[in-house]
Order: sequence, then C-alpha cells, then structure tokens
Amino acid sequence: MNRRELLKSGLLAGIGGILTGSAPAYLNSKTSNGKYKNIIFYAYDGLTWEDIGTTRIYKRRHSEEPVHFERLMKEGVSGSMDSSALTSIVTDSAAATTAWATGRKIVSGALSMYPDDRKLDTILHLAKNKGMATGVISTTRVTHATPAGWYAQIDWRREEETIAGQLLDFAPDVIIGGGNSRFDPSLRSDGEDYYAKFADAGYTVIKDADRLEANNADKVMGIFSDGHIPYAIDRKFQGVEGPTLKEMTRAGLEALEGSDQGFVVQIEAGRVDHANHANDPGGALYELLEADETLGYLLDFVDQNPDTLLLMASDHGTGSGAVYGVGERYRASSRMFDKINRHRASFDFMLDQMDENTSVSEIREIVENGTGYRMKTEQGELMSKALAGEFVMPDAQSHARQPRNTLAHCLIAGTYDEPETLNMGYVSGQHLAGPVPAALYGNHHKSGTLGMIDNTDLYYFMTEALGIDHKNPEMKAEDAMQYFEH
Ligand code: ZN
Ligand code: MG
Ligand code: ZN
Repeated sequence: MNRRELLKSGLLAGIGGILTGSAPAYLNSKTSNGKYKNIIFYAYDGLTWEDIGTTRIYKRRHSEEPVHFERLMKEGVSGSMDSSALTSIVTDSAAATTAWATGRKIVSGALSMYPDDRKLDTILHLAKNKGMATGVISTTRVTHATPAGWYAQIDWRREEETIAGQLLDFAPDVIIGGGNSRFDPSLRSDGEDYYAKFADAGYTVIKDADRLEANNADKVMGIFSDGHIPYAIDRKFQGVEGPTLKEMTRAGLEALEGSDQGFVVQIEAGRVDHANHANDPGGALYELLEADETLGYLLDFVDQNPDTLLLMASDHGTGSGAVYGVGERYRASSRMFDKINRHRASFDFMLDQMDENTSVSEIREIVENGTGYRMKTEQGELMSKALAGEFVMPDAQSHARQPRNTLAHCLIAGTYDEPETLNMGYVSGQHLAGPVPAALYGNHHKSGTLGMIDNTDLYYFMTEALGIDHKNPEMKAEDAMQYFEH
C-alpha cells in the first residue's frame, strides 16, 4: 500500500467518529431546528469591513440614506467570520465557498473535494435529495468558483468546461449569471453545444436580459455575457449592457418561490473581489452599491416570506481599499467622496481603450473621462511605460498587477496632506487573512450576535434550519499537506 492509500484508509477509519459528532456547541442557542422552508445564501466575494465603511459613508453623503447592510447588522444576527482554508490562513474563493457548502475546510483551488479525491456533499446536493428546488445566481461566470463549489466536485476550479458539465449533471432549477464562453459551441474547446444540452434537459435558455423579466419557466438558464457580467460602473455610465444583480435575483426568486418543498439558492455579488484585486476604488464602489441594493431587496423578500432564512457572508477580504485620515485634524478626510463621485469607468474599461501605441495625451484624456482626474504629464508617461510592458511599479509596492497597479498608483494618493487624488490605501492586490462580515436574518434570527464564527459554521446553520442532519468526512491539514511539495 502506498502512502496515498495508507492516508486514505487511515482517514476513512476516522470518519465514524466525526459523523456522530454535532455542530459546534456555541451554535446551539442560535440554531433553528428545521423551522425554515427556504434558504437564501447571499455571498459577497472579496468584501472587507473597510468596503462597508466606504459604501456607507458614500451613500449617506450622496443620498442621505443608510446602506441596507446597516439594517442587516441591526435587525439580524450578525458578527465576524474567520475565513481561513485548510492549509492556509488566506483562502481562495473555492475553498471558502466549499466551507459554507459542506461544513469542511479544504485546500484552496479545489471545489468540494479533498486532495485524496474524496468528494464532499454540498448543501445543494442535500437540498435536492430532500426534493427542494435549488439555484445559483452570480455576477461572475456561473462556472466560477463561488457558485461552482455548491454543485461541482473537482480538484481544480479552473477546469470550467468540465464544471459546466457538472452543472448540467446537477441541474439546479435556476442558473443565472455570466459565462457564455463555457456553454457556446463556438467558444468551447470541444465545440460541444451546451445550450442544446440544457434545453434538452428541460431548461428555458435566455440570453437577452429583457426576457428574464417576463420569464415564468420552472427551469431557467440565463447567461448574459461571455465572461463575467460587466462591472456595474460601466453598465451605469458607459452604456455597457448587462442585467443588474437585483434583476437577476428577482427573476431567480420568482422561479424558485413556487417550489412546494422550498428552495436553497446561492446569490453572489462576485465582482467586488475583482475590482479589489485591481485596486480600483470606483469599480469597487459601484459593485458595492449594487450589491447593497440587492441586499435591501433580499431583506424585504424575507420580511414577506417569513419561512425564509437569509445568510450573508463575505468569503474573504481582497485588497483592501481603506479610507485614511488627511488634513489638519483629519477634517479633509471626507472630501475624497466628492472625487470618487466623479469616477465613471472601471480600470478595465479605461485600460481596454489603451495599448502601447496610445499617446500620453490620449492616456490622460481617457483617465480624465473615466475618473474626473487630470493626470500630470509624468503620470501619463508612467502609464505609457506600463502599457509598453516596462517595469514601472513593482507589484509589491503598488499592489495590483501591471498595468493596473500603475493606474492605481496615479489615482491613489498615499500622503497625509489633503491630496488631489483619493486618500485611500491598499494593502495588496491579493486576498487577505482578516475576519469578514457574516449575518443571518429571518423570523427566528433577529437582533442578536454571532460573535466570531468560522466559515464552516454557516453550513450548520443551513442544515439545521432545514432539519438536515449530515456531516461530511474531515481531513486534517497535515494529511492534506502531504499531497503538496511545500
Ligand atoms: Zn473570493
Ligand atoms: Mg466568487
Ligand atoms: Zn479573488
């Protein structure tokens, strides 16, 4: 028997004890023992507490209204969540979504599967076995990690064409988001027509967002972009087409709420993460505002459907953009909100209009149109070099990757006198280790505290809310480490 087999049998021998265990004792006072019919899990990808701070200050300044997130914190059961993965203190989205879906930590990069190939049952599998309706709705490709971890079991998240096949096999009732490139025969590497396969499986396939509204089919597949759904800021100001998360959410819930046996759906605000990776403050802000609008819709939905439990969590922080104090007695700190209010395009939208042949004056014009900030000539020259592939800002210094990091460097100040640009700082262009927000909201979950929970705990809140008793096998970090060289 080789080491892999030994490890496998050794671990299998341990499962019995784990299966008879129960959810962490501190959850007992907060569980609901089968009192809910429906579960809505609202996932933010890459959201930090600082993002919430920025969004609420912006919204109060510009509309005098609080963010819906404040209502969730006040009226729901809320707290902080540890986001770690099995073999790393910083998680990727795949291990993070698996923790929610299965109650187990795994190695980053995989979806609901251990490195010894053991598959984990997800909350969507368990719900389906119970006869419930299921769904995934996301602003990313529907085959991207966060939704995929709830229906697919695979060692490597990047194999999205295979994941599309697992989506077809699992067949949730509602599939809404981006990702045409994984289903369209002219874009798939194998030339297979996955839309035809989904249609054969009983789906109404929709590619025009206007038709989403009028749809009343039971099994819906709505795919609205080749890749991710375009950034909210570009849809709002640049005429880029695509549905809002709230529109996709409403259509999905209308299809699901007819289920007699109830439903479990994951809804993802997936692109906060992408804007934060890019250190793009305007891009992130409009993703956050759209996500918050969707959260308000979900809170209202739960009020009208009291047999529904809403869970909200971020999978990990990314970035993270934080507003810092500037000026005498910090009094100039808030003026950056007037500057960020002039942002009209994502970094990606601006960079798509530039290449190594774009002149410095054109670069300055594109950035001014996109952000309201007139770059200095030297900054335009830096951008020109970055676009030509020259090493301008090291990734570790300005955090995001080239050439976005140079753009971020030009638009974000880093001084404590009041700057012309934004008084925002980024720690990194990567995921972060710190705790993230989590909350529950429902008839049996009102005005309380979660304290500090683990990402795996959310699985137990869901299973207990639905009266499901199921534990997945466990794997120890040191055993998982043996499958990797470092
Ligand atoms: Zn993530
Ligand atoms: Mg995601
Ligand atoms: Zn990320």
